[in-house]
Amino acid sequence: DTVVVALDGPSGSGKSSTARGVARALGLRYLDTGAQFRAVTQWMLDHDVAVEDPDAVAARAGEPLVESGEDPEDPTITVDGVDVSQAIRGADVTGAVSAVSAVGAVREQLLELQRRIIGRGGIVVEGRDIGSVVAPGAAVKVYLTADTAARAERRAAENGGGSIDDTAAGLLRRDSVDSGRESAPLVAAEGAVHIDTTSFTLDEVVAQVVDLVRA
Ligand code: C5P
Repeated sequence: DTVVVALDGPSGSGKSSTARGVARALGLRYLDTGAQFRAVTQWMLDHDVAVEDPDAVAARAGEPLVESGEDPEDPTITVDGVDVSQAIRGADVTGAVSAVSAVGAVREQLLELQRRIIGRGGIVVEGRDIGSVVAPGAAVKVYLTADTAARAERRAAENGGGSIDDTAAGLLRRDSVDSGRESAPLVAAEGAVHIDTTSFTLDEVVAQVVDLVRA
């Protein structure tokens, strides 16, 4: 199967769970591009790069070696051979990833890597710019959304609790940086099918996307 499924949308829209569910249901590979941006961010923090300084980040963008696992059951990610799957979900990386991923040199590096991985197809790819930039030829493009409250509740639950209000504020802050930047604004790709996941269960959303792939 050489199908490419592009799944875009803001944080907490249910992208990761949906993408993994679809990959599992159809026996496809899985790529989490957000995790790649997070892994580069982790590397920058570990190397004391001033992450708010785009020139400083750009100067070192070619150094981190990111390797993504493609198994939806166990999506691991390493940078320079170190497994950072857990670390990249922490507050330090979450707070810095929007700034790092706004740097053009970072996006160029990861774009090349992403296209290499997508290569022969048979993959579900989640991110922000997959249907628009990374894989504009994808056979299926989906744009997931959800109410801010629903997104914050899911994210807080994923993070093992915490304040919904603080989580919502963080999501909105990242949305505004992600959609305001010039390098890769968060906008739905042309031809993307919009699914508002607010009132659906995960299984229902997975089933809707699976139907689109089979159609
Ligand atoms: O999806 P996730 O929340 O892990 O993404 C983390 C951050 O990575 C996003 O807030 C966004 O700034 C960036 N990102 C991106 N392009 C992608 C995927 C993620 O800029 N394709």
